[in-house]
Amino acid sequence: MKVLKFGGSSVANAENIQKVVNIVTGNTDQQIVVVSALGGVTDALIKAGTLAEQTDETYKEVLKELETKHLDTARALLPVTHQSSCLSMIKQQFNTLEEICNSVFYLTELSLRTKDRIISFGELLSSKIIAAFLQSKQVDVEWLNSCQLIKTNSNYGFAAVDFQTTNALIETAVRSNKKIYLAPGFIASDANNNATTLGRGGSDYTAAIYAAAINANSLEIWTDVSGMMTADPRWVSNAKPIDRISYQEAMELSHFGAKVIYPPTIQPVRQKNIPTWVKNTFAPGDTGTVIDSNAKHEGDIVTGISSINAIALLSLEGSGMIGIPGFSKRLFEALANANINVILITQSSSEHSICVAVNINDATKAKEAVDKAFAIEIVQNKVEPLKIETEQSVIALVGDKMKSHPGISGRMFDALGRNGINVRAIAQGSSERNISAVIAHTDIKKAVNVLHEAFFENVYKQLNIFVTGVGNVGSKLLGQLLQQQPFLQEHLNLQVRVAGIANSRKMLFADNGNDISLKQWKEALQHGEPMQLNKFVDTIIQKNLRNSVFVDITANADVARIYEQLLSKAISVVACNKIAASSAYAHYSELKLLAKEYNALFLFETNVGAGLPVIGTLNDLRRSGDIVTNIQAVLSGTLNFVFNNYDTTRPFAEVVKQAQDEGYTEPDPRLDLGGTDVMRKILILAREAGEKIEMDDITNNSFLPEECFNGSVDDFYKAMLKHEAHFKKLYDEAAAKNCKLKFVAELTNSPSGDRRASVGLKHIPADSDFHHLYGKDNIVLFYTQRYPEQPLIVKGAGAGADVTASGVFADIIRVARV
Ligand code: ADP
Ligand code: ASP
Ligand code: MG
Repeated sequence: MKVLKFGGSSVANAENIQKVVNIVTGNTDQQIVVVSALGGVTDALIKAGTLAEQTDETYKEVLKELETKHLDTARALLPVTHQSSCLSMIKQQFNTLEEICNSVFYLTELSLRTKDRIISFGELLSSKIIAAFLQSKQVDVEWLNSCQLIKTNSNYGFAAVDFQTTNALIETAVRSNKKIYLAPGFIASDANNNATTLGRGGSDYTAAIYAAAINANSLEIWTDVSGMMTADPRWVSNAKPIDRISYQEAMELSHFGAKVIYPPTIQPVRQKNIPTWVKNTFAPGDTGTVIDSNAKHEGDIVTGISSINAIALLSLEGSGMIGIPGFSKRLFEALANANINVILITQSSSEHSICVAVNINDATKAKEAVDKAFAIEIVQNKVEPLKIETEQSVIALVGDKMKSHPGISGRMFDALGRNGINVRAIAQGSSERNISAVIAHTDIKKAVNVLHEAFFENVYKQLNIFVTGVGNVGSKLLGQLLQQQPFLQEHLNLQVRVAGIANSRKMLFADNGNDISLKQWKEALQHGEPMQLNKFVDTIIQKNLRNSVFVDITANADVARIYEQLLSKAISVVACNKIAASSAYAHYSELKLLAKEYNALFLFETNVGAGLPVIGTLNDLRRSGDIVTNIQAVLSGTLNFVFNNYDTTRPFAEVVKQAQDEGYTEPDPRLDLGGTDVMRKILILAREAGEKIEMDDITNNSFLPEECFNGSVDDFYKAMLKHEAHFKKLYDEAAAKNCKLKFVAELTNSPSGDRRASVGLKHIPADSDFHHLYGKDNIVLFYTQRYPEQPLIVKGAGAGADVTASGVFADIIRVARV
């Protein structure tokens, strides 16, 4: 004989009940079928009772709706010829129910006993309707009255089963040879025959009680998902069904919030070793999960991840507790006497504090009880009043195999830490089947996803990127991402998801199930909301997505100012924007420190030489123990263009204008021509080489006459024309020596040992590495202890949207690789 249980969503309406009946009648075995109330009915009944208690007459409307729902379901299922007795049964039950609610209304009192009586109607009605439907199909069915068969104590709402009496009653009741017994779940009665219930979700338990009483061959829990999953599928889209799981694991997972099975369910079937299946009513062909005693799952060490929301963390602290036995006994006694269930316990070996997690609803009661129990010690300052932190949750890894595998907790906390999730308390039982951590409730969804990724998704790691500045370079980046996605998935197991984009006018975020399309982001962004930088940052932080990366492709000082806020939330920053890295040294080093402290990355490879691996190379040299003694570089595409094209046949000003027209310069070309841009770049290189250096420390041997710096951009052009002779002289002097002019940045060792940075125009002879630099080329020469004479050279196009975008891309991938 088998026992099958169908949950609320499986019997939510006539259409679903038809599916249930197909499953049941498709079985050849004799079976007991346990059903829940129609989906949502228990909640609605509680609502009706509560409204009545509050003398809110709308309880009548709630009851009316419920009556209609049941009548409609019966009408839809039953042929007209079979309807009348079922419909009158429903009406009769609702009359009784209404009378009970009326009494509640007049007495303004809803005792737990009356509440159980009210909610018992849900399962009673659903089971009677389904039994009538089976009868109408000529199925050999008998309705079992669970209320009479399952006997409990009088702990209304959460009654404890008297197994001896119950087992005997069930055995007698199922002696006939009926093909199907149909029983309501959840409901029972006490010794005085008052209705009791087995706790929310308790129909699972009812089914297990029947299964154990008749020594069933198997129990099947039919629900709306294809088995127990590695995590709650509503939170983790990549959650996958667990094929096989042990009774203990199932118990741990369900105790820790995996709602798919009601925790007490496991005990009766485990005692009788009855294999228990979790199956999907809406996909009956799916294998589902089998819970039994010989669970052995290859591969995964962790079986599942679960969480309990809305808990409070209580801490009892005080120097008076150290070394004195009995404190914990008194604490737990106080909690037990106040009927408070403890979810998790930790005590540090310093014995200075004991921490327990309880349901949030018990927090105030717990404080009263504990502070009372320790009243004397509190007055004597030996113990502090109980500290309560609300808005906490517990996350747990569950798995039998964790016991024999060291390093699991290391991986767990590493993954949480990398994502900026602070752990408040940790507990691991000696069975090592469960490792639990208390974290802020706001982090729970992210934490479940982070851990799921760390333990189950060898397939993909997901990066969530937020891009500000989707102009020239930004568009190229998104285009490259689109093109490269299949490669990243296949070769790096990496999924780069664009979670948000913004330009100076609009911003747009991906929502659950609604990703930003890399093909249509431009149109979508036009319909985005107005860009507000603060809101953009707040949303990134509040979304709290795992592996978040902020990508700054603007040249905006305000955007550069938010890095601090992001890094301190463990959000990595990839900046194309040079402003932060070239700001005051204190700020630059603060950002680096924050990144280190919060396990995030602050990357800005494209600040120097666009996509060229300049900073990366410098970092690699230093990491491998080399010492950079000297850097010489040509770092301005603009100045290269200007001096490559100026041969005195046309005025210098005209060449600069051409550079500006072709988009090589900043809006004010003096930033390039005056050397500021190159100064910023050598400043960043010097800092990355280990120098504590500021902009003011850099010598700028500017080649522009003073007058060029006055007035507007127009005035600048006029001044250049006026000083054409000066530029011609610069050129001629170089040409006379067979040299070219290049604007060179240097970091050199001074005779006194300290290093100096400077920028300025130089005569470059034909045998120099700098001589053959064309177009937008940049070049960097690193002289180091290991490259003392022949430098390590990085050379190539140092400007342009495509190469800059690929540099940003490379930085983003770097975040994924740590
Ligand atoms: P029923 O009404 O059939 O008893 P429940 O709503 O009580 O169904 O339980 C099924 C739900 O449990 C699923 O829809 C799913 O959202 C949730 N759930 C939470 N954690 C898990 C998990 N680890 N595996 C499967 N389902 C889970
Ligand atoms: N109907 C009850 C509830 O909603 C029992 C159950 O569905 O298991 O809690
Ligand atoms: Mg359930």
